[in-house]
Amino acid sequence: MIPANVRDNFPILKQKMNGKPLIYLDSAATSQKPKRVIEALVRYYQEYNANVHRGIYRIAEEATQRYEASRAKVAAFINARRPEEVVFTRSTTEAINLVAYAWGRVNIREGDEIVLTEMEHHSNLVPWQLLAAEKRAKLKFIPFDSQGVLQLDEYERLLSERTKLVAFTHQSNVLGTINPVNEMARKAHAAGALVLVDGAQSAPHMPVDVQDLGVDFFALSAHKMCGPTGAGAIWARYEILDAMPPFHGGGEMIMLVQLDKTTYKDPPYKFEAGTPNIADCIVWADAIDYLQGIGMAAIREHEKQLTAYTLSQLSDVPGITIFGSRNLEHRGGVVSFELDGIHPHDVAQVLDQEGIAVRAGHHCAQPLHRRLGVAASTRASFYLYSTEQDVDALVRGLQVVRRVFSPKPAPVSGA
Ligand code: PMP
Repeated sequence: MIPANVRDNFPILKQKMNGKPLIYLDSAATSQKPKRVIEALVRYYQEYNANVHRGIYRIAEEATQRYEASRAKVAAFINARRPEEVVFTRSTTEAINLVAYAWGRVNIREGDEIVLTEMEHHSNLVPWQLLAAEKRAKLKFIPFDSQGVLQLDEYERLLSERTKLVAFTHQSNVLGTINPVNEMARKAHAAGALVLVDGAQSAPHMPVDVQDLGVDFFALSAHKMCGPTGAGAIWARYEILDAMPPFHGGGEMIMLVQLDKTTYKDPPYKFEAGTPNIADCIVWADAIDYLQGIGMAAIREHEKQLTAYTLSQLSDVPGITIFGSRNLEHRGGVVSFELDGIHPHDVAQVLDQEGIAVRAGHHCAQPLHRRLGVAASTRASFYLYSTEQDVDALVRGLQVVRRVFSPKPAPVSGA
């Protein structure tokens, strides 16, 4: 159960927008931050701001100890075998680029194939396009059906001995679809390929166990799970990280530097060149403590119930088309829709006047929208602090949108 007073933990939710209470329905873009996370950031800068892995004075040691403790916390959160399997990055985007660059450049050769899906966020598409162009490799795409569910029979047909990697999102940021990771990973491994999962939308919203999922790489971002922006991670099995060359070169990732050559540290430090994002990586641990205090299973259950409520309430809005599956076992707290041909930007602008924050556009998933046959959609997305009252406000807001954009009656002649 989510505590009844959970919203009190989020100072931003007390704000008014256009004189109305802020209804924040854009948590898939970024989550709001609880007070303890905001305070932990201030505490870092006020009490122990120092560079990590360098100084031998007290505050530098404290910063280093907390930075490494946060790595261990992220590792435990996703059930990694050891903290060294977690490399801090700036974000999910950087995590995937790290794999495409460091792993991809030595493991992908001409004629090799990488299997993706048609529902990927651009951050799990463009890095592979760049790699494929450089290596003359081929990208193949698993289609999804009218319910927004991946067509696994097609997936099996795409796999071959040429497949080197299968990379897909755990939960779609547009359709909400939760993909069957275990089954997909088993099939990829049987074909001899490795598996990368984009966990940007799953790690914040459900229990995640990378060992149980049976994957090889898992990417996530702190800012979507009550943590600060600018911190993320790539998890990979240690042997894979150990065999990979570095991503960036620079300070702190080296053992010995000579003018003509360098030897590198072991993972994860080999992949963390330069001064990392110390404050935000440290404070990510506070966000995880906060989420675990509530419980990831409780968060998933709350969002499931809220999504069921939203689907039923929105279905009554005239002229609405809701994308994605109605099966809540395989759907997270993201509801994208189209309203009567009214442009999503117009929908979002009118909702903003009502104090309601939703996302409008292609949500960094242009091919997905093309497949749906629309250029853009409006998206409401939830988190632990979202409520049925938020959804009721959205439904009322959409009625205002329809009034504003409904065709005006023609003037009666002679009147
Ligand atoms: N993948 C998915 C499914 C996402 O929703 C997002 C964020 N919208 C990303 C990747 C990229 O995350 P970030 O912007 O934190 O790098």
